[in-house]
Amino acid sequence: MKGFTHGSQSKKPHFVLVPLLEQGHIIPMTDLAHLLASHGALVTFVTTPLNALRIDAVIQHAKESQLPIQFLPLAFDCAKAGLPEGSENLDMLRHGVQEFAALLELCFSNKDPLISYLREHETPPSCVISDEVQPWTGDVAREFGVPRLSFPGFSAFASLCRDISILHKIYDNVTDEHQPVPLPGFPHPIEVPKNKSLLNFYVPGLEKITEKMKEENSKIDGVIVNTFQEIESLYIDSYEKLTGKKVWAVGPMCLYNKGLKQTVSRGNKASIDEESCVRWLDSMEEGSVLFVNFGSLARCVPLQLMEIALGLEASRKPFIWVIKAGDKMPEIEQWLIKEKFEERVKDRGFIIKGWAPQVMILSHKAVGGFLTHCGWNSIIESICNGVTMLTWPHFGDQFFNEILVVDVLKIGIRIGVERSVVLGSEKSDEVMVKRDDVERKVLELMDEGKEGMERRIRAQKLGEMAKKAMDDGGSSHKNIELLIQVVEERAK
Ligand code: UDP
Repeated sequence: MKGFTHGSQSKKPHFVLVPLLEQGHIIPMTDLAHLLASHGALVTFVTTPLNALRIDAVIQHAKESQLPIQFLPLAFDCAKAGLPEGSENLDMLRHGVQEFAALLELCFSNKDPLISYLREHETPPSCVISDEVQPWTGDVAREFGVPRLSFPGFSAFASLCRDISILHKIYDNVTDEHQPVPLPGFPHPIEVPKNKSLLNFYVPGLEKITEKMKEENSKIDGVIVNTFQEIESLYIDSYEKLTGKKVWAVGPMCLYNKGLKQTVSRGNKASIDEESCVRWLDSMEEGSVLFVNFGSLARCVPLQLMEIALGLEASRKPFIWVIKAGDKMPEIEQWLIKEKFEERVKDRGFIIKGWAPQVMILSHKAVGGFLTHCGWNSIIESICNGVTMLTWPHFGDQFFNEILVVDVLKIGIRIGVERSVVLGSEKSDEVMVKRDDVERKVLELMDEGKEGMERRIRAQKLGEMAKKAMDDGGSSHKNIELLIQVVEERAK
């Protein structure tokens, strides 16, 4: 496992990538690893044994392409942190914030093994790129005297909203959680109520991590953002001014993946046969299908899933619906059988229970709309493919992303969710959106009248801009090259 065999590449800069153990952070980091390596850098990608298994297809692809990426699975002793065996990813946790904190704190024990590994490596590290919530990696960067860039996994827009709200303590004296609160110094007027802010991350139980994160964030040498200048330059500039940190816009990174094999195998093995999914999509009219998927963590309770099912059915629009219900899956499966739901929608509904090949689906020309939870990867993947969105944020940065999509870029409409949920504490009788609203909003999004068509045209234009940014000579392509060059210069 030690070192890279490519002798001539030993002078290349060596990037050490440490993602948060969550699909929405691991996936873009694997894309980043490929991008850096395809531009000539060496990469060590830090992971854990179970997460390495999940991304095996990506690891194999890197090997086949002879890219100098070394995947390094470090042991993860769940029992030591009081976690159930195999809890190596946030989507494997069941008991809310305490387990979340335990998993994040257990990551700190990777510090010494990583330092030992890097000490023995034939090419010393040149730069650490790590998740914001892996603050222990600051010590690793200092150990080798190299820069640390953080990867928050957010849009520049969301990072700016969050940092302004923290800096100006705008929610400190707010008693009405629904009251819109202005964000001072934002490049244009914007108001966000407390119950849609990112404060739900700063909750009791996470103090140790958030304190260390704040301390280390002030020391970072820059931020990597999975975005492109043309879409977010206003927010990138403001963020740089606010924090004094350089922002590297190097996305949309998912565009690194070309062809069926790569777009299917991202983050996990798909729980359907992708060929049957492609055949089904091929049989649908261009731009007619709504894709429904809420990412890797957000879960709807069975009652809510039933409302979604009935709303989708009533809309009479073709759809691909990805159901993830965690340990409530048997309950919803029974309901689907009892209602003969799949039979009822068999002419226009394709249901995936588990992991979906999202990028493959979004890139199919039959897809014209995406009902999304507004995770930043999902949004940027939708933008790349010129797909309009129906926004249903759940928590975290997702409400900020909704504002960007609906009010700024005008490529989506809201389904109408008014407050965030606490991950892992969803109430079983809580229905956020009723079936009639699902139906009405799906019809509005998929409508091909003047407004709908203008929205689609705007989305397609952004998709073209995204591709240009990643093409040779495009803004993100140049930024990747510049990043490697800057790190190389600094290492001399
Ligand atoms: N994803 C996927 N299939 C799924 C669910 C998610 O491929 O069934 C991918 C999706 O394409 C994206 C990532 O997982 O790259 C989810 O990231 P996002 O930021 O959208 O949401 P999160 O899961 O972090 O809430």
